[in-house]
Amino acid sequence: MDRLLGQPRAVELLQAGLASGKLHHAFIFHGPPGVGKCTAALELARIVLCHQPQQDLAGRVAACGGCDACRLLRHLSPEGEGGTHPDLHLVRKEMAQTAQTATLRTRKQLNIPVDLLRELMVGGTTSDGKYHEAAAFKTPVMRRGKVFIIDEAELMDAHGQNALLKTLEEPPAGTYTILITSAEHRLLVTIRSRCQRIAFVPLADEPMNQWLARHLPELEGAQRQWLAAFAEGSPGRALTAARYDLYAWARMVLPQIEAMRQGRFPDSLGAAMAELVDEFAKAVVKEQPNASKDAANRRGAALMWRLLAQHARGRIHELVGGPAAGDPVKLEPQVAPWLSLLEAIEGAQAELAANVNPGLVADHLVARIWHGFSTAPPAPPAPPAPAAVR
Ligand SMILES: [Zn+2]
Repeated sequence: MDRLLGQPRAVELLQAGLASGKLHHAFIFHGPPGVGKCTAALELARIVLCHQPQQDLAGRVAACGGCDACRLLRHLSPEGEGGTHPDLHLVRKEMAQTAQTATLRTRKQLNIPVDLLRELMVGGTTSDGKYHEAAAFKTPVMRRGKVFIIDEAELMDAHGQNALLKTLEEPPAGTYTILITSAEHRLLVTIRSRCQRIAFVPLADEPMNQWLARHLPELEGAQRQWLAAFAEGSPGRALTAARYDLYAWARMVLPQIEAMRQGRFPDSLGAAMAELVDEFAKAVVKEQPNASKDAANRRGAALMWRLLAQHARGRIHELVGGPAAGDPVKLEPQVAPWLSLLEAIEGAQAELAANVNPGLVADHLVARIWHGFSTAPPAPPAPPAPAAVR
């Protein structure tokens, strides 16, 4: 669990279960994306599957690192790829691509269908009429136990969740299930009540800085500062920002937003934002051939909206702490345009959810922002650019 930074409460709960020898058989790891839920699940799997787990003087349990099981899990990536242990089972929406059931292979991978769960874990008859034995109830190959990790568990529909219930209700001895989710409310109450829930939180500044120094040591100066702010305590988001150079987005987009606030309409900002999102989605699909372009587009758009929303919140924060703070008559009209930007983003999200063409969504967004800005009183002369975009 040493790999897990900034989650002392989660580590404490899991260690308590391990040390007592009464580890719960089913967990929900919930919390915002990219804060270590998957890392923690894989760590727990390493310990549960290890043939000689070690306990230090403080009572903390860790995998030995040297047994057959540990060796098979040595090359496991933080995303869970590359492990060859036969008793560690990852269930992800992307796995539909290689499913036996033909209809699973050809559909868009936007959820975790019940057929996939039947094939990989809970057994039963899939929609093509084929019967699958329940992997969860088979004897572990290496005798220690079995671990099932369901990533983005909220993507299971009600059928899938109900099919999973039996395994959670009468778990075979030594079988552990970990559901990972950033939208716990989408899991059925019956599922939630059978699992131990472990909350994961955004990292505080200190562990986040440690994480950045360890994993992205090449970053420095303004870029590092910007990335730390953009990540908001999520190492996963920091990695995404570094991998796809979202700092370049900030330097391209934010000055134009500021220019708009100063009364200059940007001719091609909508098109430029749409292009950045499209490039992002293409890069994601190129790296992960199983990814859906649609899902990658949405993810890119969500990052772009986050960039804008964070900038607006920063501006509001400055105004509320600035010279006009005690004077609502002055403050309100200065804050209003930034609030209207946040509303414009809500509108863009709704359009994207309704499958409006991403280019159009971006154009509408710029028009709405412009409308909000142009009906506000003039901005105070040239505010300093935020540190990150200087
Ligand atoms: Zn071991």
